[in-house]
This record gives sequence, structure tokens and C-alpha cells, in this order.
Amino acid sequence: MALVKCKWCEEKVEKESAFVIEKQTKEKLKSGKQKVLRTYLHDKCVDAYFDDKAFKEREQKQLDSLRDTIMEIHGIRPEDFPRHFYQLLQDIRNGNMIGRQRKNYKSGTEYRIIEKAYLLAESDIKWQKLKKSFDTTLGELKYGLAIVRDKLKMARDRDRAEKQARKIAKAGLQKEIAPDANNFKKKDKEDLDITDFLD
Ligand SMILES: [Zn+2]
Repeated sequence: MALVKCKWCEEKVEKESAFVIEKQTKEKLKSGKQKVLRTYLHDKCVDAYFDDKAFKEREQKQLDSLRDTIMEIHGIRPEDFPRHFYQLLQDIRNGNMIGRQRKNYKSGTEYRIIEKAYLLAESDIKWQKLKKSFDTTLGELKYGLAIVRDKLKMARDRDRAEKQARKIAKAGLQKEIAPDANNFKKKDKEDLDITDFLD
């Protein structure tokens, strides 16, 4: 009975009964066959593993989009984007307080909301860029981020309002397309009431 390590919980799992994810690689084995990477999981760990994977992919996508927006607003090239600035964005994402120990909880403001705040701050940032001269790109980005921090609450509020509006629009649309059984029932009863009244 061969035992392997579960990729999610890191406990041992029987190779024969494990859930297996195979990934083809470009590497060739000595036999000439393509090398395949295998990930093993307990059945009970499969959902958590894929949920986490989807979450991380979503985070990465949002961070990429945020970085693109920042580069566009500040007019900087990808190669000039300071690595250290990612840490400052992560602090907002993780909900870290300035000066406190860093945590790695994703309990702060989502990257997509920070991006919205950047768009709200765009004209202010561009105006500051014209007025001031910055020694370094990082200095300029930090100055911009201070303006963005002040817009985070507005970005969150707007996002909430947009979500609410979408929900109401969706509910209204569903009602139009398919009036539910309750509405028919209510109408029947109303008809009945009128008949009763006429009697
Ligand atoms: Zn496991």
C-alpha cells in the first residue's frame, strides 16, 4: 500500500484511493515519455483545494488589473513598477494597520475596490503629478496611494450601491418574465373578494 502526501492537508493518503490531478509537462523522461506531474488529494480535501485555487486565481486577476490601472494613471512602464509597492497594496488587501505586524489574512479591502478608488482619485493624482516633482517612482506612487486611501470608503459605498441596484434590476426583470405562483393566487383571491362584495 503506497502512501503519498495530500496536497491540501499534508497528511498521508493511500495512493490507490486518492483523488489525482494530472498535469502534462514539456519535460521528457529518459524513456522518452512526457513527464506528468501528479497532485494527490483526500476526497474530503478536494473541494477546499479547488475553492482555494479559484480564490487565489481571482485575487491574482484583480491584482493584475489594479497594477495596470496604477501604471496607466501614473504613466509608468511595467519595468519601472517598484516591487516594494506590491507590499503596500497587500497591506490594504490584508487589512494590516500601518506600523503593526504584518498578517496574511485577506480581510481588508479587495483589490478591485482599491482599483475603483484609484479611478476616483485619478484626476487628483494627475494634478499632483503636474504640481510636484518626485525624486523616485516609489515616492510618487506612495503619494498617490495616500490620496487613494481617502477614497476607499467612497469606493466601497459606491460598490455596495451598484450591487444593490443590480440586485433590484435583476429581481424586477425576473418578475416581468415569470410572475410567480403567488401573484396569480393573490389575483384570484382579489377577484373573489370583488365578487363577494358585489353579492
Ligand atoms: Zn487531505
